[in-house]
Amino acid sequence: MKQFLVTGGAGFIGSAVVRFLIEHTHHHVVVVDKLSYAGNLASLATVADSPRFAFEQVDICQRAAVDRVLAGYQPDCIMHLAAESHVDRSIDGPIAFIETNIVGTYQLLEAARHYWQTLEGKKKNDFLFHHISTDEVFGDLHGVEDKFTETTPYAPSSPYSASKASSDHLARAWMRTYGLPVVVTNCSNNYGPYHFPEKLIPLMIINALAGKPLPVYGNGGQIRDWLYVDDHARALYTVVTAGVVGETYNIGGHNERRNIEVVETLCELLEELAPNKPAGVSQYRDLITRVADRPGHDLRYAIDAAKIERELGWRPQETFESGIRKTVIWFLNHQTWWRDILDGSYRGERLGLAESS
Ligand code: NAD
Repeated sequence: MKQFLVTGGAGFIGSAVVRFLIEHTHHHVVVVDKLSYAGNLASLATVADSPRFAFEQVDICQRAAVDRVLAGYQPDCIMHLAAESHVDRSIDGPIAFIETNIVGTYQLLEAARHYWQTLEGKKKNDFLFHHISTDEVFGDLHGVEDKFTETTPYAPSSPYSASKASSDHLARAWMRTYGLPVVVTNCSNNYGPYHFPEKLIPLMIINALAGKPLPVYGNGGQIRDWLYVDDHARALYTVVTAGVVGETYNIGGHNERRNIEVVETLCELLEELAPNKPAGVSQYRDLITRVADRPGHDLRYAIDAAKIERELGWRPQETFESGIRKTVIWFLNHQTWWRDILDGSYRGERLGLAESS
């Protein structure tokens, strides 16, 4: 039984990791999260009563607070997911991305290094810092056959991906320079339950149910490789239990879809699962609206996940068809979760989510 420290555990992927750890293992978990607009304790409600769960509202940029949590909980493994994660927000206001993703990761690495140096014996040998990152650090793919491998050179396009690329380099440098045991994973686009309503898939479901426009950037031809979030959580646990220190693992779902295909699939599922449409809407797909493309928009991401499949035996359990169906059903059955975000009651303020983001 180990103590896991999960940064960003109140976010979309972090909460899936925490639910996985509490529901499928015997480990203890402490969540470190500052509860930014993207953090929501309601995403942890199903595990919050577990005696193996603890929560610390801490900003990873605040070194003294991080030191206090490390000393208090003595973790065996740090899974670092805390980040600013929305590309559009990074274009409008990059500074928060520099602060959390770069400076915050630096502060966390330094705190982890000093904590790790105080450990002894097996506890020190077994310690692991797992840095969780994105395939967006590789930039975009132009050749139809290419896929990102673990050795693809970094070429980030947006302030978000540049800040994540920077944090990946810092994590690897702390291993190379100071010997901190680090493993890095780079994953494709996630989707599934508890996805924050500003992201493509939940935004489309929620707007469609309200009879609002479904904004699609440019011609909708951008290709993303989609992975169901619970498959990602299981992959991350596989890496911390079976991965090799110092290695990088790409994680992906073999599910490349054009954005417009994703939106059309959601409309078809909603026709079947939510046939009582808002007034004035005869077909959900009529709500699809083209909007000006995002500046610097990457055309295609695709992950080659052969290494984690071959070496660690992980494979996604969901196809895109099964995962997207589960997701639509989840959003239909958990309307309080996302309506509390839309009206701001989850943190006592309105967010003013842009309909066109
Ligand atoms: P998210 O935005 O849903 O959650 C981020 C969490 O981090 C929130 O709970 C937020 O409160 C917390 N946080 C932000 N700044 C913090 C700070 N300074 N200190 C402490 N906590 C802070 O993000 P997500 O989609 O769950 O992504 C999690 C991680 O996975 C990120 O590192 C992201 O880069 C990476 N990733 C995401 C995807 C994806 O498709 N969403 C794909 C690959 C990798």
